[in-house]
Amino acid sequence: MKFDNILEYQRIDADLVTIEDAIKNSSERVRVYNYKLKLDEATEMVKRLQAESADVVAQYERIAQKANELVAKITELEGIIGKADDLNEVEYYTKMLSGLIDELSQIERDVNKDMSKADNISFEYKKTWEQGQKATTAYKNARIEYEKLKMERSIEAKPLADELSKLTKVIEPRMLEIYKGLRANKKLPAFVEYQPEDKRCGRCFMDIPSDTQGKLKKAGDYAECPNCHRALYIPD
Ligand SMILES: [Zn+2]
Repeated sequence: MKFDNILEYQRIDADLVTIEDAIKNSSERVRVYNYKLKLDEATEMVKRLQAESADVVAQYERIAQKANELVAKITELEGIIGKADDLNEVEYYTKMLSGLIDELSQIERDVNKDMSKADNISFEYKKTWEQGQKATTAYKNARIEYEKLKMERSIEAKPLADELSKLTKVIEPRMLEIYKGLRANKKLPAFVEYQPEDKRCGRCFMDIPSDTQGKLKKAGDYAECPNCHRALYIPD
């Protein structure tokens, strides 16, 4: 009969779709996705910490250079004070010296701040690195589990796929094309029996307009439902 092959194809393919959905909705796939997310987060965090640590190093170098300059100035001033014989002059340079020493203490505080920041970064880095390692292992294991599931399912699917490929050779090409288009749009079942007295799509239940009704008069007719686009057919 006209629709036997495509309906047989549809029946077998429904089992194949069930297998595909089982893979898609499997906890194995969810785990792979989640661990990948964690891994990506850890990788991002490592990058961010590396950038922060480069900033701290640059900041430290700037401070160290400033400290060197100050120490040189202080040494120079101490020399000048040692040689000065005027009391006013001594007082003037001593004031200047105490200003420089204050500045140096400020720098020391900045260095300490920088150091504690570096400690924090290094702590975070270590923690993130460990998390990353754990996520990598978990991700790899989840992938193995997922591949195993896919393998098992594909063994189940193989005979079905073989039957479908046999049927492909005997199905009217236009019908197969319609079926595949609907399958790709997740409109299954694609071929739906039509009862002319019902005047409705058997799947989306929309009333069928008269021009489509005109194409669905006798056994063997088939036409597209204007609403859900499934193929309505009258068995022969
Ligand atoms: Zn419909």
